[in-house]
Amino acid sequence: MPSPVANIPIVAEATQLHKTYGRGDEAVEAVRGVDFQLKAGECLGLLGANGSGKSTTIKLVLGTLRPTAGRVQVLGGTAGRRAARARSGYVPEEARRFGALTGRETVDLFARLQGVRPRAERRSRVDEALALVGLRPEAWRQRLATYSRGMARRLAMAAAWVHRPELLVLDEPTSGLDPVGTEELLALLDVHRARGGATLLSTHDRLTAERACDRGLVLVRGRVGLEGPTAELMAQDASSSLLPLMRRAEAAERADA
Ligand code: ATP
Repeated sequence: MPSPVANIPIVAEATQLHKTYGRGDEAVEAVRGVDFQLKAGECLGLLGANGSGKSTTIKLVLGTLRPTAGRVQVLGGTAGRRAARARSGYVPEEARRFGALTGRETVDLFARLQGVRPRAERRSRVDEALALVGLRPEAWRQRLATYSRGMARRLAMAAAWVHRPELLVLDEPTSGLDPVGTEELLALLDVHRARGGATLLSTHDRLTAERACDRGLVLVRGRVGLEGPTAELMAQDASSSLLPLMRRAEAAERADA
């Protein structure tokens, strides 16, 4: 009889994923043969140095880039198709985009784009999302241009959450946040997880990786250098940074090349 764990649905799956930018002498192999599975209620961390292929992998999962080879399935369909997009939410690293809109108008815009209707339902979802991320009602009426980085990140979470996605994708969610902001954002991810949501995030931050991610993929020059449960990946290092893990992943990738 299969174990209960085996029955948890797969939300995202990459199979021998490759992405090359440019051609000929200019070609950059950003992602080279990455495989992973992400299940409901789980958080997978893409860890790795600058330029290791984290953002490219995220764009492939969102479907804003097409793989050169291999494939990404999201919620049972090809990444980027309407069905997958309707059930996913994305929090970009730089969230302060629509400075002329208020916080509430921004989340309402995202709700409209995601087809949340009728109007009364949309209103209640917008208010629920804004409250859930801990933005005070005064802030709902403020223009985004006045938001601090922490407020902007919360608002981006509300915008990504308003249609109750099963998959949340976050690019460097805690970069530039102070320790309080970091902890508060990680607590929001716990709420998503408690609802059975899956999370894919990229980070350079050890605390974020340890606190939020069940498993990590350490990317090195577009390949998976090391992978496993984050607790196991980190157990060997007394460091407060990901540097020793990145060094070990580099050595593993070189040995495997
Ligand atoms: P960072 O931590 O700095 O965000 P990353 O791990 O997200 O880095 P990517 O942005 O995925 O890495 O980049 C992987 C490689 O692909 C790098 O060598 C980068 O220079 C290259 N690259 C990324 N985007 C493009 C592009 N549009 N055209 C050409 N090369 C690109």
